[in-house]
Amino acid sequence: QTQTPTSKIVLITGASSGIGEATARRLAADGHLVVLGARRVDRLAALVAELRVAGGTAEHQELDVTRLDSVRAFVDGAHERHGRIDVLINNAGVMPLSTLDAGRVDEWDHMIDVNLRGALHGIAAALPLMRARGAGHIVNVGSTAAYRVDPTAAVYCATKFAVRALSEGLRQENPDIRVTVVSPGYTRSELLDRGGDPEVRAAVRAASDSLAIPAAAVADAIGYAVAQPDNVDVNELVVRPTALS
Ligand code: NDP
Repeated sequence: QTQTPTSKIVLITGASSGIGEATARRLAADGHLVVLGARRVDRLAALVAELRVAGGTAEHQELDVTRLDSVRAFVDGAHERHGRIDVLINNAGVMPLSTLDAGRVDEWDHMIDVNLRGALHGIAAALPLMRARGAGHIVNVGSTAAYRVDPTAAVYCATKFAVRALSEGLRQENPDIRVTVVSPGYTRSELLDRGGDPEVRAAVRAASDSLAIPAAAVADAIGYAVAQPDNVDVNELVVRPTALS
């Protein structure tokens, strides 16, 4: 599809499933060029092929957000190919739930590495390029867990509170850069499939699964923020199932 004057170069981390995948679909359909990153490159390749058949413009690259060199290669590669980066969506995340007394320290570290360090790595890689141009948009995917704490989610909530805090600092320090936090409530995805205490996982599923909103609902919120004019910065959007507090 021909790039329209309003089409943007949009980088999405964690685009191989769930909210990232839905966001890739939404933004490609809106006419943007999407650059998709994640570790499961087979998934990304299939998605890129599908988006292209549908008339979109999409590329993919292997990405591990826990590694600064990987994030730099992802961002710099897109910048070299296209001459600019308009939007970076720090979406990659993990949520292995357990109580603190279970002491699953490796999973705590992994959550901090992906959810918090991953977003910081994206900022470290993209912000200088955006500042040099005097324009850009960083979208961080937060969570309702950035606003409230629940048992079994203490570390996950800590990472998401932190993502919200650093987003506010990023916004205050950079008046030429748009900063958005999109915070979903329970959303249908693969987030609960990996790690955590199996009993907790089953309990959360039983309580929430039937109420989960589709990932496309969150993608629509991201699409809304991206679509605003350059002088309009949507700072925070919370999108949750109507029936869940
Ligand atoms: P999914 O598990 O479906 O998607 C997570 C994505 O993150 C995958 O594409 C995964 O790709 C990627 N990812 C994980 N680790 C890494 C890594 N080290 N490097 C690069 N990519 C990585 O879950 P969601 O779509 O739900 O999650 C997306 C975001 O939404 C997360 O930040 C999550 O915290 C947030 N969120 C989700 C909610 C929900 O209810 N689903 C609610 C609130 C917030 P791969 O494994 O291929 O690398």
